[in-house]
Amino acid sequence: MSCELCGRESRGCRVSVVDGVKMMLCPDCMRHGEEIQDIVKTPANVERAVLQRIRKSAPKDIYKGMEKELVSNWSHIIKEARKKKGLSREELGFKIEERTVTISKIENGDLRPSDKMIAKLEKELGISLLEEVKGVSASHHSSAGMTLGDFIKQE
Ligand SMILES: [Zn+2]
Repeated sequence: MSCELCGRESRGCRVSVVDGVKMMLCPDCMRHGEEIQDIVKTPANVERAVLQRIRKSAPKDIYKGMEKELVSNWSHIIKEARKKKGLSREELGFKIEERTVTISKIENGDLRPSDKMIAKLEKELGISLLEEVKGVSASHHSSAGMTLGDFIKQE
């Protein structure tokens, strides 16, 4: 490898920048230019990497804060709300487009309603079947900076 500035053959030649031009320079000529390695490690780049990391984690934390879980006595709440409205299981099933047997299973606690069904039941019966899970959110917050994958691996 030969130096592009003085033309001397040298094993220590490295890529450097002289007046904005990339050149192979021997150690003697190196002082005329800036080493590429130093340019890559400028604080601006490090700062950008940190910012990207912060931005990536932000939406996940917002989602975690809104995490909701089905209330424990959902079957009871649905049954009571339906009775209050004076609806039979058939009538409720017709309104939310679900089969009567599905309504029966939900009211008996044999079937956990899907998210879509929960939304329909809440709207039709004027009830709230979801509650924020504070315990789960707290444990998630303690693992700040970890990805969901890390979280699963740990368990
Ligand atoms: Zn040289």
